[in-house]
Amino acid sequence: MTCEDYRAWVEVDLTRLDHNVMALMDLLPPETEFMAVIKANAYGHGSVEVAKRLVQSGVHQFAVAEIDEAIKLRRNGIEGEILILGYTPTHRLDDLLVNDLTQTVVNAEDGERLGKFGKNLKVHVKIDTGLNRLGEHYENTDKILSMYRHKNLQIEGTFSHLAAADSLQDRDDSFTRAQYNRLQKIAEFVLENGYKPGKFHILNSYGILNYPDMHLEMVRSGIALYGVLSSTNTSVRSKIILLPVLSLKARVSRVNRVKAGNSVGYGLSFTATRDSVVATVTIGYADGIPRQLSELGGEVLICGQRAPIIGNISMDQLSVDVTEINNIRQGDIVTLIGQDGSETINSEDIATLTGTITNELLSTIGDRVKRKIIK
Ligand SMILES: *Cc1c(COP(=O)(O)O)cnc(C)c1O
Repeated sequence: MTCEDYRAWVEVDLTRLDHNVMALMDLLPPETEFMAVIKANAYGHGSVEVAKRLVQSGVHQFAVAEIDEAIKLRRNGIEGEILILGYTPTHRLDDLLVNDLTQTVVNAEDGERLGKFGKNLKVHVKIDTGLNRLGEHYENTDKILSMYRHKNLQIEGTFSHLAAADSLQDRDDSFTRAQYNRLQKIAEFVLENGYKPGKFHILNSYGILNYPDMHLEMVRSGIALYGVLSSTNTSVRSKIILLPVLSLKARVSRVNRVKAGNSVGYGLSFTATRDSVVATVTIGYADGIPRQLSELGGEVLICGQRAPIIGNISMDQLSVDVTEINNIRQGDIVTLIGQDGSETINSEDIATLTGTITNELLSTIGDRVKRKIIK
């Protein structure tokens, strides 16, 4: 099947992924290890295809959010370290062993639970340096030490997560530096106490772009790998060029003449003020197109030109005004994210328009959207 047979599909250009990995690695000393964050199906790009390609670029460490994402990678032949960033329930601990997965210790109590499991588990210890999400709080030094004492836990790393690395405003910048310093102090403290903390890591994508000096022994990159920033409202110090890996496409299912005064869509949400030509497009909110996009000025590309989305977006379809574009026909390709001729719609633009971040936009692309891999 070619993409011509699909209703809605993403094109995932793996040559661009190669470029992004190299560009990010170039910001870091050669000995810094690179962990690719491929949770949520690699932010909608397809975790297996992405992981396989990254292996060819020399990446052998992966992070996912939960155990079933990790098992999917193993079943598809991905070797190397796979770190589960979130909590794993007790009845799944055997699956960690069977699949040779690495588990995050989310706090001291979790360390007790994992230790009691009684079989050797590979883990990374998480320290909460201020995000207040997961990790043992950096001030609870006794509790932190307790996490290194469990005989059954094989400690391969110790890490923390930054809260505001995407902003260079004074308050956020000092917060990022404080988080880094807190982790550094913990590192000294753990080592002084004779424990082996494994590799230290703290940087996410924006960390790499804005604070490459904080590389420690490993970095964890998600969104930047996919060649996009989280939104147009963030700051980036680095001048590297990232190439968006994903395009999102659908097609015209019907071209319709709508006379002035007639409306389009549920709730009669758009009324034509002139005789119009409206194209119905084969993608909707269940495919990941934010429903509010139409009223926020969202556009698509058809035949290399911009066309505004009109009327309420449906679950599986949307409408665009193509009055200004000649010769639109049933079956024509419509670009929601990506390039068509000299026009481009970036996922950052859509995210900013709809008040979210590209991480959400890309990771919520629907299951039924097909994937065309460009090698
Ligand atoms: C999602 C996640 C990352 C990757 O973040 P990006 O901003 O996409 O690079 C890194 N570390 C943790 C703990 C995460 O949850």
